[in-house]
Amino acid sequence: MSELKQYKMFIDGEWVDSESKKTFKSLNPENNEPWVEVPQASEKDIDIAVNAAQKAFDGSWPNLFPRERAKYLKAIANELRENAELLGKIETIDTGKLFKETKTQANYIAEYYDYYAGLADKVEGTVLPIDKANMQVITTRVPIGVVAAIIPWNSQMLLTAVKLAPALAMGNTVVIKSSELAPATLFEFGKLIEKTGIPRGVVNIVSGFGEPCGRALTSHKLVERVAFTGGPETARHIIRNSADNLSQVSLELGGKSPVAVFEDADQENALNGITAGIFGASGQSCIAGSRLYIQNSIYDNFLEKIVNRANKIKLGPPMDSKTQMGPLNSLKQLEIIEKNIKLTLEQGGKLRCGGKRHTFSNKGYYFPPTIIECDNHNLPTAENELFGPVLSVMKFNDEKEVINKMNDNQYGLSSGVYTKDINRGLRVSNAIRAGITFVNTYRLISPSAPFGGMKDSGYGKEAGIESIKDYTRIKTTWFNTSDKPMDDPFTMG
Ligand code: NAD
Repeated sequence: MSELKQYKMFIDGEWVDSESKKTFKSLNPENNEPWVEVPQASEKDIDIAVNAAQKAFDGSWPNLFPRERAKYLKAIANELRENAELLGKIETIDTGKLFKETKTQANYIAEYYDYYAGLADKVEGTVLPIDKANMQVITTRVPIGVVAAIIPWNSQMLLTAVKLAPALAMGNTVVIKSSELAPATLFEFGKLIEKTGIPRGVVNIVSGFGEPCGRALTSHKLVERVAFTGGPETARHIIRNSADNLSQVSLELGGKSPVAVFEDADQENALNGITAGIFGASGQSCIAGSRLYIQNSIYDNFLEKIVNRANKIKLGPPMDSKTQMGPLNSLKQLEIIEKNIKLTLEQGGKLRCGGKRHTFSNKGYYFPPTIIECDNHNLPTAENELFGPVLSVMKFNDEKEVINKMNDNQYGLSSGVYTKDINRGLRVSNAIRAGITFVNTYRLISPSAPFGGMKDSGYGKEAGIESIKDYTRIKTTWFNTSDKPMDDPFTMG
């Protein structure tokens, strides 16, 4: 076994161990071996980190001119571009995601910091048309305070950027908790943050488990805003935790995103979009298009094409540029997938490809592209978020039926429609209760496109202009413009 890579936490501008000196190891999903060791934060460590963030918030940071803060965001963007290769490599070893994807993403994430740097001085207040004589009333947008950012193991650079960039632009300070399943990338990112010279305590990065680290952070009295991405069960804990500090919470949760292919669709386009949607990142994407509805008239023929395509996907080491699907991130997830497939097949699902651990799964967590025909979309693989490369396929007859089926699930994050009839594309998009609908495309993100769900996929939006306001509070100030004294309160009216 090679030597373990070691990281410390980034608190108040210093690299520190946990107070207890306790650590934990993270596994490389490619070979199931520990490769990195990080501090295990306790309640005490979280208290230190939050107090450091509060001290920075009480200092000069919120009072810098917005364009001064923007300079730090641009510096982060530049560091990301210059270090995309290194960040990509660390994230790949930590998560099992393909290097070509993590490297490209680290580079692209720079755009989010540039975007919010540009918005830093564009958030304006108002002058209100008030119904009182001699009064001028204004509203201003003020920062909230200490923000707790809780990150899942996948797409960490993106999910950090959509919280950190708007929070910093608006003058908040932040404590970020990395995922216990893949803690390394954020510490590598912390080194870049340090290089920008951002005032100490403005950004703090901690590592630990949901209990006690995540709980202590999201319930800390000084935390006033919690930005969470993760699963719905954890989200329920977060909301309960926020009862302690009455913080504002945003939740970006899971999905079971439906995709409809109509008989008039451009099939090659649909095939590429569906493949990207469910087999990209080995299906470990919150917007994975995992429920596929194919119109009856093209069902057999189109399904055959998807199965053929899936069978050609090349599994392999995530650093290899020829690999198309790497390992899953954890054994626990692999076992959840296996259990759901077993139950689905017992209940009548028909396996068309994959379905069993890949042979080189003796060490790593490799699972092949899997397609299951389901005659009912309440079967386990068609209903539950699996976070893996498993596509459940169903038939439909007409638009009304498929809309009902697409909406018949607890989640509402993403969705897709393939049709050449743009009116129909728009009708279906309007009818689907999901935060995002892709028409004739899939799996795209942009700093300017709001991202987030409905129903059990959470609330609040990340990215886009509006989300920057979620890192502010409206403050109302009344000015009495009269030179005369105020009326005696007991003679009013
Ligand atoms: P998870 O919910 O298990 O963990 C997410 C984070 O929450 C981790 O950092 C974890 O330590 C922390 N946590 C756990 N218990 C906590 C507690 N009691 N209090 C505070 N924090 C706690 O999620 P995961 O397995 O890392 O990620 C997969 C999930 O994330 C999937 O459901 C996926 O769909 C979702 N996800 C959503 C989006 C989105 O933008 N909507 C993006 C990526 C992933």
